[in-house]
Amino acid sequence: MNRNLVANFKSQLKPGSSQLKVFSLLSDQKWHCRTYEGKQVASEQYAGGGGIQGLERGTKSRPGLHLETKRDFCNICNKKTRWDRWTGQIKPSNAPAIIPPKLADRILKLYDYKDVIANRKRPTHELVIDHRFPMQRWGKAEPSHDINMNENEIKSKFQLLKKDSAGNHNLLKSRSCERCMKTGKRGQPMGIHF
Ligand SMILES: [Zn+2]
Repeated sequence: MNRNLVANFKSQLKPGSSQLKVFSLLSDQKWHCRTYEGKQVASEQYAGGGGIQGLERGTKSRPGLHLETKRDFCNICNKKTRWDRWTGQIKPSNAPAIIPPKLADRILKLYDYKDVIANRKRPTHELVIDHRFPMQRWGKAEPSHDINMNENEIKSKFQLLKKDSAGNHNLLKSRSCERCMKTGKRGQPMGIHF
């Protein structure tokens, strides 16, 4: 387990909040019964925005968690319940990225409207600008995006991905995470450095 990642992530959560309690529970990367353990930690908040869902989604200033869920028999509840597990990986926030239109335009042009996976030129509406989260910047507020940042900065901060049918690129990412887990390798899916 990456202790730095856990500590960094915790520092992004409000002290005493349900999200912090839920993350502390999940940080061991083991399966936890939502009905029994979850409710103990955060009662009715556990599954919603104050808990699992909010952690998974991320915010404007922190990434989301890559979580897995399953239904399985719980010996304590004595029935089938929902279980959650953190894979130990983070994923880009689903919160809308605030990229000024002028900067978005520069990013698209710099990459020549090509997504990073297939390196294929695509119409703008098929592309999504992916914001990388450099871990060393965690804990500080994300500086607002300078529309005049230089090309190296753009390349280190952003990349282009193809939108999936749901309008985002997370599906691709979780697929590549699953592949990493199956092969036991922690790769750098889509250039996100864990
Ligand atoms: Zn249970």
